[in-house]
Amino acid sequence: MGISEFDLIREFCQGATRVRADVLLGIGDDAALLRCSPGRELVMTLDTLVAGRHFLPDADPQSLGHKALAVNLSDLAAMGAEPAWALLSLTLPRADSAWLAGFMAGFSRLADAHEVQLVGGDTCSGPLAISVQLTGFVEPGTALLRSGASVGDLVYLSGAVGDAALALQLHGRGEPIAAQQQRRLDRPEPRLQLGRRLRGLASAAIDVSDGLLADLGHLCSASGVAAEIDCAALPLSPATAAWIGRDGDWSLALAGGDDYELCFTLPPSRGEALERELRGLDVAVHCIGRIGAGQGVSAILPDGSRYTGVQTGWDHFR
Ligand code: ADP
Ligand code: MG
Repeated sequence: MGISEFDLIREFCQGATRVRADVLLGIGDDAALLRCSPGRELVMTLDTLVAGRHFLPDADPQSLGHKALAVNLSDLAAMGAEPAWALLSLTLPRADSAWLAGFMAGFSRLADAHEVQLVGGDTCSGPLAISVQLTGFVEPGTALLRSGASVGDLVYLSGAVGDAALALQLHGRGEPIAAQQQRRLDRPEPRLQLGRRLRGLASAAIDVSDGLLADLGHLCSASGVAAEIDCAALPLSPATAAWIGRDGDWSLALAGGDDYELCFTLPPSRGEALERELRGLDVAVHCIGRIGAGQGVSAILPDGSRYTGVQTGWDHFR
């Protein structure tokens, strides 16, 4: 027999993460009670993962717990925010203790690493789906927005793109997946430190979750500008570079999703300030293109021709 809803909450959710001083009341009452720091703005986000849509129903629960929080942390990173409080909605076909223990282990480990406390949520039965709502802070007026890019700004990208999409592609073909690509798909590392350092420096920022062209496209339309990407400058892992090299199809890097890197724009005059800010950071950042007048994003391939493959990122209704 499975455990009851209330035992589930007590056993797996209560005390799952470390306690923050600004949480007056966490899990257990009708709602959480939190103390806001005076003089800081709240930043809120929510993301849902649906079985069969965002992950396979038999996916490793620990990776899922990690990823459900990581995708939200990535949104706060793209805003330059510091995360604080999470709400977790679990819709489960059944209360499977082993699955829950794995899921919460992945969730809690990442939460503790970023000083996030799980302060509440909801639990119900139904087709497997997970939502996380995350709240954080930013100093007034310093949040990174999509809308600040100007003509002449340079476009930068953290980490590398294409590895998660490569893992999915290999999975679909039933081919073996190297640990590095599997890890990039299952356990994305949200770029919170980088996002914090970009405040007051980057003119605009977005996290790359649905494909580089699509997400940079969102930044461009919010800013009323166009962008051109130089594919030769794109940071790629050796495996992704080799895959692209086989047939010259760049869609893995340009339209593959699930990278959770930061893409941001910077006035060229701030190049040295950026170098200084990046010192000691755990992730590399590369200049991959430039903002121009007009609209849309184009990508120039290493042979000088224009990329004409898949442009769009993931859209749930198309
Ligand atoms: P209510 O019926 O008032 O919605 P619930 O029984 O759903 O209350 O929740 C009881 C407590 O457990 C609340 O504090 C709620 O935030 C918390 N809770 C429920 N599900 C979760 C979950 N999946 N993760 C974290 N906290 C949860
Ligand atoms: Mg409830």
